[in-house]
Amino acid sequence: MMTEPKSGTAGRPVQAENPPQRLAILGATGSIGTQTLEVVRRHPDRFVAEVLTAGTQTDRLIEQALEFRPNTVVVGDAGYEKVREALWPAGIKVFAGEAALNEVCAFDTVDTVVTAVMGSMGLRPTLTAVENRKKIALANKETLVMGGDLVRAAVARHGAVITPIDSEHSAIFQCLQGEPADTVEKLILTGSGGPFRGRSREALQCVRPAEALKHPTWNMGRKISIDSATLMNKGLELIEAAHLFGMRPEDIEVVIHPQSIVHSLVRFRDGGVKAQLGLPDMKGPIMYALSSPDRLPESAAQTPRLSLPQIGSLTFEEPDRGNFPCLALAEAAAKAGGGMPCVLNAANEVAVAAYLNEEIGFMDIPALIEAQLDAAGGAGAVRRGRDLDDLLALDGEVRSATRRAIENKTI
Ligand code: MG
Repeated sequence: MMTEPKSGTAGRPVQAENPPQRLAILGATGSIGTQTLEVVRRHPDRFVAEVLTAGTQTDRLIEQALEFRPNTVVVGDAGYEKVREALWPAGIKVFAGEAALNEVCAFDTVDTVVTAVMGSMGLRPTLTAVENRKKIALANKETLVMGGDLVRAAVARHGAVITPIDSEHSAIFQCLQGEPADTVEKLILTGSGGPFRGRSREALQCVRPAEALKHPTWNMGRKISIDSATLMNKGLELIEAAHLFGMRPEDIEVVIHPQSIVHSLVRFRDGGVKAQLGLPDMKGPIMYALSSPDRLPESAAQTPRLSLPQIGSLTFEEPDRGNFPCLALAEAAAKAGGGMPCVLNAANEVAVAAYLNEEIGFMDIPALIEAQLDAAGGAGAVRRGRDLDDLLALDGEVRSATRRAIENKTI
């Protein structure tokens, strides 16, 4: 699937130095998936979409497949007939279900797997990609939160490469270029504080999902928008960063920075600090995850340039762990380790879904998670999750228990 060479500035065709990177985009119809395809559209000499997958957004998937002409498409079971009928005449192979999602990550024709599916669904395909020595551009933080120990062990065994798409982790990844690992003292994750920064606990009890979905600086999917409003997103990112960069959770700090211009920082043992800055646009981290250490040429029309005088001031403050207990819960789960981050993640996914469904209130989210962490901690969850089956079993148990707590209103 070669693309036509682009015309260069001097009127000569520009030849790519290497053949284009062949991508499998898991979660192609979501926010990150769509923006990844925008990057492919702008840089057809660098990337081709070899595989696209989606859950239920069949119309968008069909539209994307007809534009990008991947070899293979995977869709959720319910959408199979419709998608197959639409794409079969175009010669695009269509498969359905989780097993297929896993299989495409082992395809010889795939160089890079972009994991942009939502929640815990990302773990198994990411492990398959690691085992098959793919490059993995990881947007799904739940994968590392749940199964970080397993993924790290597999990466060490197979020599795969994981590059982060999350903006904070991309910033840290960029700051670490050329710096020996033993010179790093602290990672400093920035977070906007979400749409409810500064609100009282009483006010927070009544916030509705529609309000929580309006993020001040980033435009994201529904689940991550709620995580961002509770500060759980920053907690999940802390666990993600610990795994990605091999740091202890206590060596990772969280700082609230409402303007979302400083994407994160690294402090070194001589006291020096490096930060990475930019306008809030996920295409930057996506491009760097795919092309690093190279940087793709982007015009100012494609990627608007940062003007510091226009921004005016950048402010920083401590996170409010009292009114946003999810951050402290995540920090505690990170320090406990073992199966506890998996418990945190499972309870959070169920609680957020229930909140979006207007079954529970905003402050019930941390209450539910705390109850699950206490119960699971008492039941020895710290020693669980040494293999994938046990981890998935733990995940399932916590989901059921959290569901029961919601249904019986025992929050
Ligand atoms: Mg982030």
